[in-house]
Amino acid sequence: MSNTFDSFGLAEPILRAVTELGYREPTPIQAQAIPVVLQGRDVMGAAQTGTGKTAGFALPILQRLMQHANTSASPARHPVRALILAPTRELADQIHENVRQYAKYTGLRSAVVFGGVDIKPQIAALRQGCEVLIATPGRLLDHMGQKTVSLAQAEMLVLDEADRMLDMGFLPDIQRILHALPEQRQNLMFSATFSSDIRRLASSFLNDPQVIEVARRNAAAENVEQRIYRVADLEAKRAAVAQLVRERQLSQVIVFTNTKIGAGRLARQLERDGLNAAAIHGNKSQQERLATLDSFKKGEIVVLVATDVAARGLDIAELPAVINYDLPYNAEDYVHRIGRTGRAGASGLALSLMTGEDERHHADIEKLLGRKLDVERLEVPAAARGRGRENDRDRDRDRREPGAERRARSARSSGHARARETAHPAVAGYSNDPFFFEPYVPAASSAEAEAPAMAAERAGARRPRRAVAALLGGGKKR
Ligand code: AMP
Repeated sequence: MSNTFDSFGLAEPILRAVTELGYREPTPIQAQAIPVVLQGRDVMGAAQTGTGKTAGFALPILQRLMQHANTSASPARHPVRALILAPTRELADQIHENVRQYAKYTGLRSAVVFGGVDIKPQIAALRQGCEVLIATPGRLLDHMGQKTVSLAQAEMLVLDEADRMLDMGFLPDIQRILHALPEQRQNLMFSATFSSDIRRLASSFLNDPQVIEVARRNAAAENVEQRIYRVADLEAKRAAVAQLVRERQLSQVIVFTNTKIGAGRLARQLERDGLNAAAIHGNKSQQERLATLDSFKKGEIVVLVATDVAARGLDIAELPAVINYDLPYNAEDYVHRIGRTGRAGASGLALSLMTGEDERHHADIEKLLGRKLDVERLEVPAAARGRGRENDRDRDRDRREPGAERRARSARSSGHARARETAHPAVAGYSNDPFFFEPYVPAASSAEAEAPAMAAERAGARRPRRAVAALLGGGKKR
């Protein structure tokens, strides 16, 4: 296996960019994937975000496209040759940012399209031409429908976080995109997990793939210190978060909650408790999420409270710690969560809180990790527990549904568009309201969102996207 970037035979402009980024040696997934992708083979990669997989596929893709690099201003000289599909806007944005950096000296162009934001600037960007296009599936189909993008010359396809795409109901969208691509092409698929659905998808479009696996982060995450604290009850949990942030002097931390409503509430409570906190979850608009993320990256926000879906794929450099406010329902999410810290060799800290209700999740996590995680008691002074508690008005605000969201919900409810914020809808107090477990749907510009398209697909609707938007009361720009 190669332990220098030089040994791959990458072109000088690509190597220069990699050196500038401070990458000294390839990560394990890069060492394995880069030579295989350079050979033109299909790849099925078992790797998740945080392992360096983006460069693992992006660098050899750029290398293979170097033969097409040109300085012509004509968009016709820059057709889409590599398509990278990602499940979420944040991940698509992040991949684009990486590709832009890797390609900056190559003359190859890249662009990104995702739902939930105005489509016009994307059309303008596509019109300029780009060899590498990063997209979420729903928005890409919108562009294809409007003929604002051509994939006739695409020769490489990447499905990133394929498991998450299936979880989010993107299979029909992916199938439509696959049909629209030229048959002769190289295919790469990355997934953190390999369910039978993923294997079926893989066998439907990968051609004699090379299987590449890197040690799972749970095995590799020895640089992450894991502590599990037992607290008396839910109220103590909130106070415990504030206590841990202060005692451990955490300068930046992501706190994970299992539900969207829990994320919003916890962030407000922490704020009242004097911490600089904000929440990021699926019910927030794209603009709000990006702005919050930006403030966090700049260090203006100390505590970012997030759900698993919202946090998936976020790459925050040198995050020193994560806190699990709840143990996740899905043991694999624990691995994803703690993988946010201790990246690229840095040491990290993963603190988890549990009450008696989390026993089962704790056992599931130990089973997945194949080792015991000792539970310590955390005493939370009684005086701290009441601080920052919510009053009734705050709780009402949580439960209030904006009208447009309610309309969208009733239009969707027959479509079972249950992209999961959580695997288990049975959360004390909110168990029967699917609202809390549904993906975010922008209230006014549904025509540009991913979720309604998914809902329509799942409901078997064959109507064009615009009709769906009208059905949801959308169509207006915000
Ligand atoms: P990814 O899994 O692709 O999201 O990458 C995780 C993080 O690791 C990103 O911030 C990358 O910029 C960084 N990274 C990727 N490859 C390397 C490398 N070879 N050396 C150091 N950092 C890297």
